[in-house]
Amino acid sequence: MSDRRSRREFMGLTTTGAAGILARPWLGDSGGIFPPTAAQRPQGVDPDLVVFNGKVYTMDDATPRAEAFAVSGGRFVAVGSTAAIKGLAGNRTQTFDAKQMTIVPGFTDCHNHADGTTLLYEVLVGNPFEVEFVTIASIIEKLRAKAQQLPPGTWVEGYFHDDTKLKDKRPLTRHDLDKVSTEHPVVVEHRGGHTSFYNTKALEMAKVTKDTPNPPGGTFDRDESGNLTGRVTDLARDVFDGVGQRPSFTPEQRAQRERDGIAHISKQFARYGLTSVHHEGGDLAAIQDVRARGDLRHRVSYETSGRMLDAMISNGIRSGFGDDWVRFGATSEHVVDGSFSERTMALSVPYPGRQPPYKGNVTTTQDDLDAWVERVHRAGIQVNCHANGDVAIDMYLTALERANKAAPRADARPKITHCTLVNETLVRRMKALGAVPAMFTTYTYYNTDKFPFYGQDLMKRALAFRTMLDAGIHAAAGSDFSPGPFAPLMGIQGMVTRTGWDGTTWGANQRVSVDEALRINTLNGAYAAHEESAKGSITAGKLADFVVLADDPHTVPNDKIKDIQIVRTVVGGSTTYQA
Ligand SMILES: [Zn+2]
Repeated sequence: MSDRRSRREFMGLTTTGAAGILARPWLGDSGGIFPPTAAQRPQGVDPDLVVFNGKVYTMDDATPRAEAFAVSGGRFVAVGSTAAIKGLAGNRTQTFDAKQMTIVPGFTDCHNHADGTTLLYEVLVGNPFEVEFVTIASIIEKLRAKAQQLPPGTWVEGYFHDDTKLKDKRPLTRHDLDKVSTEHPVVVEHRGGHTSFYNTKALEMAKVTKDTPNPPGGTFDRDESGNLTGRVTDLARDVFDGVGQRPSFTPEQRAQRERDGIAHISKQFARYGLTSVHHEGGDLAAIQDVRARGDLRHRVSYETSGRMLDAMISNGIRSGFGDDWVRFGATSEHVVDGSFSERTMALSVPYPGRQPPYKGNVTTTQDDLDAWVERVHRAGIQVNCHANGDVAIDMYLTALERANKAAPRADARPKITHCTLVNETLVRRMKALGAVPAMFTTYTYYNTDKFPFYGQDLMKRALAFRTMLDAGIHAAAGSDFSPGPFAPLMGIQGMVTRTGWDGTTWGANQRVSVDEALRINTLNGAYAAHEESAKGSITAGKLADFVVLADDPHTVPNDKIKDIQIVRTVVGGSTTYQA
């Protein structure tokens, strides 16, 4: 790998201009927390970095606005006016004139599948990062090229499909995918992760016919004549697990792919201003390897399940264990229902206009959910469930209330991933439990083409950031990448406008201010992982994670927020991205 070179560039070592922020490597987590003012500062200790002449939105209520700050040992050590902070610079201090650009705390994404391996190595049939329409013909063409490299009987897989981003204006069917191959099982995965589209060969290999009944928690979709369309939802997809061949890799190859994937996606995060990301699982060894070689550009809150969660419970490892770069967070999302974007989430009312009436998929029983929540809660680990629809959120809150009664724990902050459709009662129960929702951010812009399936009435209660903030709930941002693009500025634009790429506006009653949207994406993200004393605002003593923006989201037109250039992303005082 040629990563040494990119590492040097990223650390700023090749930046010779006077404005180059940082030629100083990360000094380690023991880098001191320096007192906040010059008067208290030990004699002879110069800050590593002084940033001045900026429009700094600190997200710190004590001093919401500033012009300048100083950084030492990877942390902010003083925040204030240009005049006061410039005076702190010594001979060895690097200085950066922000030239009136806007500076905000680094962005935090509280729900991200962080799958760089797919981005690097798989067939992408849609655009992971931006709104882009594609043709069904282009999907067939890409997959056909892949099929030609694989022996018959081996899966041909496409990723990042979005059913409402097709120029053809009709759904992908198994007949389309039969054009890819009749010898290979073919699947196109919806980027939302809850629905998949199969060709006839795959359905045959899994012995699914038009007469196969739908299992609990999933469907084999059929057309008006009762024939299989190829679309399969949620748990019905389990029948494909043991079918067909998949490409195999040696342990070394697999480890290499995982490392490459983490390094790749970390670069993408930095490009969009993210400094902390809550990872849904992924390869923990790869994350540590990439960190050790200096290519990890974001802080990881690692969320896990299955065997690793069992090991945490049996060995007493709790949320919060780790360091400022890689730390165990909540569990990964324990799934209670289906998907918002793919219209399988569990609703208390039928989906508008659906025949036969359909209320979405519940993917667990209350008893199983109760037992899982209580076990995790008792182990001192932050509980986290995926609950989209009001039915699923109600089930999860019921399990939490029960667990909390059985084993009261102060400030447990149970996490609700998505928490998409709420009502007054649910919000009141969330507040009483101190629950922290990680809600879709970019959907309001990116997925506006899916909101007609719900209608204005439901959308007034969906992605309900206004309601959450008004109730005093620390709502945080969770892109759910790959389902949603992860650009924080795209998310902020959507939260502020509630208007999508197609110009339509949904649930305008849930709009928040630019400042509130920034807080959701920064300080509230830190709060969601019990890290608000260490990050989330530009405050002396906190980790020096910040983003320099070319324009001020408070003053550009609201529909241009997503286009603001990220000039620089900085983690612990080190530059991780530079435009
Ligand atoms: Zn997810």
